[in-house]
Parts: sequence; C-alpha cells; structure tokens
Amino acid sequence: MAQFDYRHVVVGAGITGCTIARRIVEDFGERVLVIDRRDHIGGNCHSSVDPQTGIEVHNYGTHIFHTAEKRVWNFLSRFTEFNSYRHKVVTTYQGRTYHMPVNLQTINSFFGINLRPHEVEGFIREQSAKERISDPRNLEEKAISLIGRELYESFVKGYTVKQWECDPRDLPAEIITRLPFRHGYECDYFTDRYQGLPWDGYARLFENMLEHELIDVRLETDFFAVRADIPQQTAIYYTGPVDRYFDYSYGELSWRSLRFEYEVEAVADYQGTAVMNFADIEVPYTRIHEFRHLYPERESDSGKTVIAREFSMKWKQGDEPYYPVNTDEDRKRLKLYRQEAERLENIHFAGRLGRYRYYDMDKAVLAALELCDELLQFKQ
Ligand code: UDP
Repeated sequence: MAQFDYRHVVVGAGITGCTIARRIVEDFGERVLVIDRRDHIGGNCHSSVDPQTGIEVHNYGTHIFHTAEKRVWNFLSRFTEFNSYRHKVVTTYQGRTYHMPVNLQTINSFFGINLRPHEVEGFIREQSAKERISDPRNLEEKAISLIGRELYESFVKGYTVKQWECDPRDLPAEIITRLPFRHGYECDYFTDRYQGLPWDGYARLFENMLEHELIDVRLETDFFAVRADIPQQTAIYYTGPVDRYFDYSYGELSWRSLRFEYEVEAVADYQGTAVMNFADIEVPYTRIHEFRHLYPERESDSGKTVIAREFSMKWKQGDEPYYPVNTDEDRKRLKLYRQEAERLENIHFAGRLGRYRYYDMDKAVLAALELCDELLQFKQ
C-alpha cells in the first residue's frame, strides 16, 4: 500500500481523532490511517510516567473525565476502567484557602458569617441587587448576578483576567456558567454521574482505542507536509485548527495557550489536592497541579511529588492552542471558514480545534460519535 493510500485519514490522534478512527473501522470495516505531528497519541489528554517518582503526569494539564452521557461513558469504558476520583478544587485568595466552585463554605468563611443554605439566595440577591443586572450579557455581569460583586472580585475577576488576559466584560457569559454555584457544602467540581481517571492512565486508553488491525498510526507526521500525497478521494477527518487548514486566509482565530512549569518537590504531599487555583492577580500562574492526587489508589513511596504551575498566555503561531477565545471578530471569521469548509468534499472538521468549540473531553467524544452516526446514515 502506498504511504497514504487509505480510504480514510484522521488528522490528529487526540480524543476526537481516536474516537473517529475507532468508529470508522468498526462501522465501515475499512482501513484508517491516523497521523499526528507530535511524537505521541492522545493529544492534550496525553499522560506519561515521571521517571523519578513513578507518578503519572498529565503533560498538558490536569484532565478529569466526567460526563452525564451514558453513551460516551459506555463507549470509552470499552477501552478502560475508571478509578473513583472525584475532582475537588481549592482556591487561594490573599493567603487563605476556600472551596471552589463557590459554595457555603466559601461564602461563610470569606464573610466570616454562618449562613444556612436557605439564606444564601437572599444574601446574594441583596448583594447583586445593588448592580441591577436583569439580563447578564457578559462574564462579569453573569458572575455578579450569581455570586455578587465581592465574591466575583475576589474569586473570579483576577483568575479570569489571568486566564483570558482581557476584561471579563468582553467575555461571553457561558464561560462562567461552566462553574456551578452551590448553596450547600457540596464541593465536587463536577456533578456528572460518570467520573474518574482511566485506571491505567490516558496513554493506555488511547493505545487501546487505536489498537485494531485496520488502524495504522503515523506519528511525527505533519498533515500540511504530506497532504499532497493523500489521494483526492480519501476522506479526511481533520482535528487541527480550522484557520490553519485554510492557511489563515480570513485571519487567525484567537486562542489561549498554556505553559506549564513542572517540578519534583521533595515532600510526599505538596498541597493536599490535585488542583489549587490562585485567584490573586499578583500571582502569575492560575493554578498548581499535583498529579499524585488523581490516583489515590496507587502506591507511591518515593517521598516526592510532581507539581506543575500553569501559566496562561496569548496564542501565536507555533504555540499549542488550548482555549478558543471566541470574540465577535472570531465568530465572524469562523463563519467564513465554515462556509469554505462546506464547499469542500471529503473533509470533516472535528474536535475543539477543528470546530473552534470549547468542548470538554466528553463533548468532544459525543460530537465525534455523532459525526460518525451521520456518516453511517449517509452510507446506508
Ligand atoms: N474561574 C474563575 N475562578 C476559578 C476557576 C474558574 O474565575 O477559580 C472562571 C474562569 O473565567 C475560567 C472559567 O471560570 O475560565 C471556567 O473554568 P474551568 O475550571 O471550567 O476551566 P478549565 O478547566 O476548562 O480550564
């Protein structure tokens, strides 16, 4: 078989690409080539074992799998079991720690009061009533309407400015509705029925997904360097950035990128939790990850721990894109790129980068499964 002579080529071996590749071979019974320019599969969900401590480290920041979609859970459960980890985040503000998302512990400890759950709504309403926000149109207004100005300014504003490097009034309200607001002491970050970390790690999960006699994987292969060698009739499932595909012809979409500073600390437990957020604007990083906490069932006796400080930064060409910023300008450009995409045959844009959508892992899997459903329907 010539190097790229496949009926299907999946560009990108992240969670979307792995899902599509698996479904194609199972539904169509045809060979699939998966290419990725990196030297590993799994995209930004990739994990690897730190040689010094034996701790499994998430190489692109902590990824917690959580979903309410039974279909997604059942699909991934074919390739891995999950542990019983439940994500709990603590945030630091002015040297003190609080539960995040904001809950009754956060409120009571921040204000030095002792509210009960049924009193929270009135308390917050009193606070946000001063602002008269009836129809919140941006992140700031939405956050104030949910938690009042003081909590917003302490726990959200600084973090958001560091994360997005813009005025929270210029960001869509949806970003903050990712975080629940709790009137009780419940402190799980996610409420989805299905949660956990792949029992043998993300790397193994993706290996299992791609382990099939009809799937070939070629790493360190840049689609743009080889696209001329891919036959015209090959169906391409492209999970890279959509603007890159069109050579940025309508301009760049804006992304946030991340930088991680990994360190091995000579203590068994550095911060007592997997993710510690830092709300103060003066602290240059947004959070510290400590990976050992993701796998409480694993023995680790090195007496050391691995942490990573996360810094958010503006994306520029050559950096890894992580978060779509989604400004008005971006939406206009995206529309133009989508129109271009519709004119093309044999190519499907998928995943967070290909669709310019802030998908969580489960939503990426769901969208990939749905894309395959459509293809299958079309075929029959
Ligand atoms: N956020 C915040 N303070 C926090 C955590 C989150 O203000 O301590 C805001 C911030 O604007 C962030 C958004 O909530 O971009 C969504 O946070 P999430 O934890 O869902 O982001 P992700 O895990 O995708 O980085």
